[in-house]
Amino acid sequence: MTEVTDVIVVGAGLAGLVAATEIADAGKRVIVVDQEGEQSLGGQAFWSFGGLFLVDSPEQRRLGIKDSYDLALQDWMGTAGFDRDDDHWPKRWAEAYVAFAAGEKRDWLRAMGHRIFPVVGWAERGGYDAMGHGNSVPRFHVTWGTGPGIVEPFERRAREAQKNGRLTFRFRHRVDTLVMTNGAVEGISGSVLEPDSVERGKSSSRKVVGDFSLRAPAVIVASGGIGGNHDMVRQNWPKRLGEAPKFMISGVPEHVDGRMIGITEAAGARLINRDRMWHYVEGIRNWNPIWPRHGIRILPGPSSMWFDATGKRLPAPLFPGSDTLGQLEYIMSTGYDYSWFILTQSIIKKEFALSGSEQNPDLTGKSWRMTIKRATNKGAPAPVEAFKKNGADFIVRDNLADLVSAMNALAGSDLLKHDHTKAQIEARDREITNPYVKDAQVMNLHNARRYIGDKLIRTAKPHRILDSAHGPLIAVKLNILTRKTLGGFETDLDSRVFGTSDEIIRGLYAAGEAAGFGGGGVHGYRSLEGTFLGGCLFSGRNAGRAAAKAAG
Ligand SMILES: Cc1cc2nc3c(=O)[nH]c(=O)nc-3n(C[C@H](O)[C@H](O)[C@H](O)COP(=O)(O)OP(=O)(O)OC[C@H]3O[C@@H](n4cnc5c(N)ncnc54)[C@H](O)[C@@H]3O)c2cc1C
Repeated sequence: MTEVTDVIVVGAGLAGLVAATEIADAGKRVIVVDQEGEQSLGGQAFWSFGGLFLVDSPEQRRLGIKDSYDLALQDWMGTAGFDRDDDHWPKRWAEAYVAFAAGEKRDWLRAMGHRIFPVVGWAERGGYDAMGHGNSVPRFHVTWGTGPGIVEPFERRAREAQKNGRLTFRFRHRVDTLVMTNGAVEGISGSVLEPDSVERGKSSSRKVVGDFSLRAPAVIVASGGIGGNHDMVRQNWPKRLGEAPKFMISGVPEHVDGRMIGITEAAGARLINRDRMWHYVEGIRNWNPIWPRHGIRILPGPSSMWFDATGKRLPAPLFPGSDTLGQLEYIMSTGYDYSWFILTQSIIKKEFALSGSEQNPDLTGKSWRMTIKRATNKGAPAPVEAFKKNGADFIVRDNLADLVSAMNALAGSDLLKHDHTKAQIEARDREITNPYVKDAQVMNLHNARRYIGDKLIRTAKPHRILDSAHGPLIAVKLNILTRKTLGGFETDLDSRVFGTSDEIIRGLYAAGEAAGFGGGGVHGYRSLEGTFLGGCLFSGRNAGRAAAKAAG
């Protein structure tokens, strides 16, 4: 017999957990199904760095940062570049989301025990004009405890709801169909996968051992994006960026397979902005992989020199941490799908952070003793040093000639010329002695160090790259790393999904990455960072509250 409940949530990632806990708290019964095992609860959010976009927070104010809703909205709109008819709901979501980030977001989380690391990061700094892309001020608030620290409060609430019988998990249940009657969603059906005790994040068995069906007047699709499915990424690759890269690494586990997107479309849901994606250009192959093609993103500080595959320095303002999409566009225009950082030991020590909970044991383990070492240590954080030693994309040499020949050997080409590389680095190095300069990247370093957070832990004291006192020299081959899906199912502010002829599909809701983090693409073309987890919180909460209400 088909089991009946009030609301079904597809996906036990962050968006699904937030929605489910809101439903249970509203006194309704909810069943959460996920194709993975219980050990994967929390989905991608567990692996995340836990960075959150907040506006005018006490942490910002303590560091002297003056932020406001108006400034943040200006930055969001300049970054999103909404330019399509389909952007009606994404834009409304953007306004609502920035208000959430400037309003109740922090207090709502804090009341659940969530805490923030006090130094606010400055991601996506832009470099154009005030109405262009980028954060005018630092806004990237790292969760104390990183990814697990953002999952924790919702898992706790879910476990409480499980105890009181309102919430039921069905792990290893893979949804294959949305069941429709007269244009309304009435439930789900799918396959039961064999139990698998594989470690979190590793690929699990897809062997089917049974089937299931569930009925409810409301179904929330919170199944994540497509980043683990490179075929789908290539299929959706935007024409404006030319050909998709031949070689890519994965910044997400394999379960981010996009399969549920096709299933939801087959039920009549309208997917918009599928060509908008947020992939990173500073990906390095993980020497100790968890999932297939596992790559890690470097969160770079502003000092590394950036060269394309032919050895030409990237043009201003495409410096590390400025404009991810601009960098991707530039790199793809070179005809190669990789690029290079050249830096010094002094830079790596202060400026390299790796995105991911497992790459930040100090913050993830909530250890002040270990975290303080970021400012005082002689070397880089241990996970960065481990990459330097074991990572296939890292080269360390005492002199530039050897560095360049090892870079050519790694790329399997002779595209890089020592004299050309040396001339560009020496030219930049000559700009270092004065605090007022012509080189825009060096100007940026001085600007960054006026912010106390950057001066403390994020921007190395300006120095000559070829000064051996700051050596050895380091080169890093940077690959394109798949991560976020910016488009998704078009939804209104209650997360209700539209059908292909503009009507709301009764009973169907979408949240998190599957909904483009709200509306079908709250980010437009680009992100200000820390906005994905927040998009899951906000759209999951809206979906849960609305679905609970609709369930009567
Ligand atoms: C390493 C890393 C670092 C990151 N850092 C940050 C950061 O600092 N700040 C930030 O804002 N964002 C960050 N992100 C992004 C953010 O974590 C994700 O965008 C977000 O967690 C997505 O959550 P979700 O609930 O929408 O989807 P997911 O976490 O992907 O969860 C979806 C769930 O649905 C299940 N599912 C899919 N299809 C089916 C089906 N057919 N049947 C049943 N179940 C199904 C999946 O198994 C999965 O458990 C990071 C991501 C990664 C991987």
